[in-house]
Amino acid sequence: MRTEMLIGGKWTPGSGGTFATRNPATGEILAEVPEGSAADVDAAVGAAVAAFESAEWAGLAPASRARLLLRVADLIEENAAELARLETIDQGQPFGISSGISIPNAVEHFRYYAGWATKITGITAPLSAPDVDYRTRREPVGVCGLITPWNFPLMIAVWKIAPALATGNTVVIKPAEQTPLSTLRLAELIEQAGVPAGVVNVVTGGPEVGRALVAHPAVAKISFTGSTEVGREIAAEAGRALKKVSLELGGKAPSIIAADADIDAAVAGNLMGGLLNSGQVCAAYTRFYVDARRADEFSEKLAAAARSMTIGNGLDAATQLGPLVTPEQVDRVDAYVRIGKAEGAQLLTGGTRGDGELARGNFYRPTVFGGVTQDMRIAREEIFGPVLSVLPYDDPDQLVELANDTDYGLAAVIWSRDVRVANRLAQQVRAGTVYINMPPFLDAAAAWGGMKASGLGREMGWEAIEAFTEVKSIWTNLA
Ligand code: NAD
Repeated sequence: MRTEMLIGGKWTPGSGGTFATRNPATGEILAEVPEGSAADVDAAVGAAVAAFESAEWAGLAPASRARLLLRVADLIEENAAELARLETIDQGQPFGISSGISIPNAVEHFRYYAGWATKITGITAPLSAPDVDYRTRREPVGVCGLITPWNFPLMIAVWKIAPALATGNTVVIKPAEQTPLSTLRLAELIEQAGVPAGVVNVVTGGPEVGRALVAHPAVAKISFTGSTEVGREIAAEAGRALKKVSLELGGKAPSIIAADADIDAAVAGNLMGGLLNSGQVCAAYTRFYVDARRADEFSEKLAAAARSMTIGNGLDAATQLGPLVTPEQVDRVDAYVRIGKAEGAQLLTGGTRGDGELARGNFYRPTVFGGVTQDMRIAREEIFGPVLSVLPYDDPDQLVELANDTDYGLAAVIWSRDVRVANRLAQQVRAGTVYINMPPFLDAAAAWGGMKASGLGREMGWEAIEAFTEVKSIWTNLA
């Protein structure tokens, strides 16, 4: 596969040197990838502007755009095994996740947005002004800068690219520096599908490339997924320049386990919800509010299940839990575990790095804390690793307050056999997505995004079409 950058239909090493991307399970270098410079960003944006204005792209009928997206979906599907392997060796996620979630979700997104390309309608409205006809059109925003994180590199890139292209925009994408490979391979497939040169450009590199993209005056919109800290910086910069901006940021999802919950189902669902991709999931279930009468039973079962998980290289079929993305991420998780112990939380299992064979990679044992209280940092801050906290509660009337006592508002889950209890809580919890009795799922048709410090705007569904278009009002004088 190509490991250069794609700018205006040409693969280029750029001018800023290279950086290494490593396999988190072994530490080995997988590839040297260009460190994009401000000049590379400028060239990519220039190519995207030219493509946006070209007859080849702007003049393409919606049905032809749809066919291109369907072709990209087919190519991803035809190359699914290779893409899944690439995601696993660059990001670390078990092959079962890359082949069972990441790649199929990317295919689904391209097909779903291919469907929308021919259905992006405006409205007519009966105005009170006399003798006018009024209608609206949805038009593409222009050149969109797409900046993605390292936890689900391919899937998150596709959440942005598919709706951006379905609506007729052109894009410059900057993948996370830890995990650039699947995005580069995707760009090759997009090229192979016949998407015109300059419509999709990729500039690899670190935060400076992201900053240059956000600051570029010809970029009309930024769609960013990543940390809340960086999201704030981007929102401030975009605000000054009055660029459109969508932000998918961090989370600290509460999991409410009512006294009547099916504990075994809750343990299984929370284990998956909390430890999928080693907890490197923005919607990961992390704070478990369990009725005090069931808390010991829940904690013991959760800890036993976590302890029994098989940790290892994601390419090994037996692996249930892969490595964390980088050694820095392991240090961050370990620091939080030490903070939890110092704050008085009870370590029920885990709390150590991988040893023996695992010491070569970025492994951390799944960790469960019991007796956690609301004020502890492990209950308040996003850890983004395999650390689960159980917080027993006595009074169900306090649950809404406890769940909402956080800066974040991305996802939440409620476990109860009583539909009234579950649905009342679902209405009261401040989160972009609430699950009832299930692990966190994603679907191209289901709007995704956060309240409060978890973000601005929504991806997926019709919401992403809105996010990548401008509404134009057209008035005609009939007098
Ligand atoms: P990050 O914010 O450090 O980096 C994300 C991307 O932004 C990377 O490509 C990075 O190079 C770039 N970047 C960094 N600084 C920048 C700057 N100043 N200007 C422009 N670009 C910059 O996040 P991460 O560590 O890669 O990812 C983990 C975070 O992403 C977690 O907080 C997680 O919750 C969040 N996330 C959210 C969602 C969601 O849907 N809400 C999904 C996945 C991950």
